[in-house]
Amino acid sequence: MTEAARTDARPAPTAAATPAVRLTAVTKEFGALRAVDGAELTIGAGEFFSLLGPSGSGKTTLLRLIAGFERPTSGRIELAGSDVTALPPSRRDVHTVFQDYALFPHMTVEQNVAYALTVAGVRKSERLARARAALRTVRLDDHGARRPDRLSGGQRQRVALARALIDDPGLLLLDEPLGALDLQLRQEMQRELQRIQRATGVTFLLVTHDQEEALTLSDRLAVLDRGRIVQTGSPLEIYDRPATAFVAGFIGTTN
Ligand code: ADP
Repeated sequence: MTEAARTDARPAPTAAATPAVRLTAVTKEFGALRAVDGAELTIGAGEFFSLLGPSGSGKTTLLRLIAGFERPTSGRIELAGSDVTALPPSRRDVHTVFQDYALFPHMTVEQNVAYALTVAGVRKSERLARARAALRTVRLDDHGARRPDRLSGGQRQRVALARALIDDPGLLLLDEPLGALDLQLRQEMQRELQRIQRATGVTFLLVTHDQEEALTLSDRLAVLDRGRIVQTGSPLEIYDRPATAFVAGFIGTTN
């Protein structure tokens, strides 16, 4: 186990609790290509869970299926106990943070963070109070009046996180959120992600091709190989007992 690997994982949620995500036999085909092949996955409420695999293994497609940007060719997707397989993204209690942040350049940080509340018609005083609380959570309290282009990459990523957390989603999807950052900032933001997940208790589902990142941050993770989930477990289980030669090889790789 690497030194950085997570050793203080909280106990897994009890079997009785409704899982945040449950996938049953989920397959997604693009023409002749099976990008996701028979995925079975249960993610507990409040877990920090990662999808780990090399480029092209189907991580982003799986994330997009959960968000509702793609419909599965077959299979069932449940969020917090409800079947959402046929529902559009807007009717799923999920937010996504992308690598490119996707902040609105003409709005202040505070307006960016409050955006979902503005759309939902929440009145201004409450919007401001909640945006400020979300900015406190990501430790950007005094940056609310700035425009995104006045911020560093790490700060922009934290604004994107605050914006995604503002309406207390059941599930936060993170698609390689730290991929564009340099190594030092990446490590700093990994600690931030972990701290924010613990502080909010929101279920985090992180897509990454970086095994160190997945092992360090996750309560549990799933390893993907050519569209198939080949192993699911805690970082320690996967590190100590890789289920296939592919997992052993991939976990042993350094980026
Ligand atoms: P990862 O996120 O692990 O890099 P992806 O989920 O992006 O993998 O892609 C899995 C496979 O599905 C790749 O071969 C990719 O080219 C293919 N794919 C993804 N999206 C589409 C699409 N919209 N149309 C056709 N092929 C796609």
